[in-house]
Amino acid sequence: MPDFDVLAPVELPARGSNPAVRVRFCPSPTGNPHVGMVRTALFNWAYARHTGGTFVFRIEDTDSARDTEESYEQLLAALRWLGLDWDEGPGLGGPYGPYRQSQRLDRYAQVAADLLAAGRAYECFCAPEELEERREEARRAGRTPGYDGHCRELSDAQRATYREEGRRPAIRFRMPGTEIGWDDLVRGPVSFGHEHVPDYVLVRANGEPLYTLVNPVDDALMRITHVLRGEDLLSSTPRQIALYDALAQVGVSDGTTPRFGHLPYVMGEGNKKLSKRDPQSSLNLYREEGFLPEGLLNYLALLGWSMGEDREFFSKEQMAAAFSLERVSANPARFDLKKCTAINADWIRALPADELAGRVQSVLVGRGVLADPVGPDDAATLRAAVPLVQERMETLGQAAGMLGFLFVDDARFSPDPQDAERLLGPEAAPALGAAREALAGLGAWQAAAIEEGLRAALVEGLGLKPKLAFGPVRVAVTGRRVSPPLFESLELLGRERTLARLAAALR
Ligand code: GLU
Ligand code: ZN
Repeated sequence: MPDFDVLAPVELPARGSNPAVRVRFCPSPTGNPHVGMVRTALFNWAYARHTGGTFVFRIEDTDSARDTEESYEQLLAALRWLGLDWDEGPGLGGPYGPYRQSQRLDRYAQVAADLLAAGRAYECFCAPEELEERREEARRAGRTPGYDGHCRELSDAQRATYREEGRRPAIRFRMPGTEIGWDDLVRGPVSFGHEHVPDYVLVRANGEPLYTLVNPVDDALMRITHVLRGEDLLSSTPRQIALYDALAQVGVSDGTTPRFGHLPYVMGEGNKKLSKRDPQSSLNLYREEGFLPEGLLNYLALLGWSMGEDREFFSKEQMAAAFSLERVSANPARFDLKKCTAINADWIRALPADELAGRVQSVLVGRGVLADPVGPDDAATLRAAVPLVQERMETLGQAAGMLGFLFVDDARFSPDPQDAERLLGPEAAPALGAAREALAGLGAWQAAAIEEGLRAALVEGLGLKPKLAFGPVRVAVTGRRVSPPLFESLELLGRERTLARLAAALR
């Protein structure tokens, strides 16, 4: 076990005490939360907590066709489970609310109108087929196939004609036609030539505002100072920087543009980008398997950041205390499930046993191994049993297999069929019989006495090698060849139930 004390408390500056840092996590509620998203949330959270800044949580739900209420609820549940507490956002409010974009549509419409009036955006009447045709033409001619500026300078009369034809305009942003660069907080200087950033749509012809508009508008209105997000969004940054300038002109921003930092890609199997659809990326899966939020966050912190001094085991607060953007790497990070699991196992070992028992209990209730509510006897048995498996578990879910035998009623108990076939055949009968007799006559029902009694009966009495002596007893009583330490397990199970299981195995 790593010698670093992950439970040691750390002192962080008071949240919100530093007005120079306002960061945001702003997912769209589509589908299930995934680990890439959590990594982004964590880095923003850590930066806010390190600096005494403010961590804003905003929901980008302007895509009514894809957003769902269920996904929204899952996002909130995920951040709560992880303990990534936000300072402004859903459920909390704050000075720049509402924090769900679906409740801010009137503002976006106003901003779009102001941008049109100021000449920073224009109406585009091109139909999708026409755009596609012209893009194809450009490709054939070897030109960059972006929007060609067709509607940039339409006259009032031309616009009126289009309207009469029944066309409805989209609203398109007028890019300045210059190279756009910024000093990326992770990647250093980045720039895009104007030919790579054509005029783009802010509002669809049906009136729906797009990410391209609402995200920077809210960043401006919410006075976001640092945008830390995945590298997949790198190409939206020049557009947003250009839009910011226009937003200052129409009074939406206060004239400052946030700093941008792009977190490196997370690669999955086969050196491909980890995608939302990869089963490995589903947050719910980790939760269901019984990863600790501490373990998962600890691992995700390593995807693009390092604490230094080879320290890879730390709490999120310790991460926050040590966090700096200088230590965020621009190189792709590889998601390694083995390592993630190993760190989780380290965390399981690091928790105080009572704390761990509480966590295991919720998982066992979730899996129906324990009744809900948990009775006092089961709770006490669990508390006593958890230290027996604390060193062996990698996930809390494994506790169901390791400890389930303590909680299943004897009528429904049956050993694992494969283990039973190997170890509970007719040749096991003498060992099982002798074990039953020895245990029935034992004075004190305690692990040490149980061990002594069984050794005397099986190893000395029957002359069996310990492995052959105890294997059948283990399978008969715990149901599996691999179990928590045997004698302690029997003590916890109790004499009566142990004898009943030995008798059942003998039959
Ligand atoms: N809603 C966007 C997303 O989930 C936010 C991207 C950003 O951080 O700007 O991809
Ligand atoms: Zn057009």
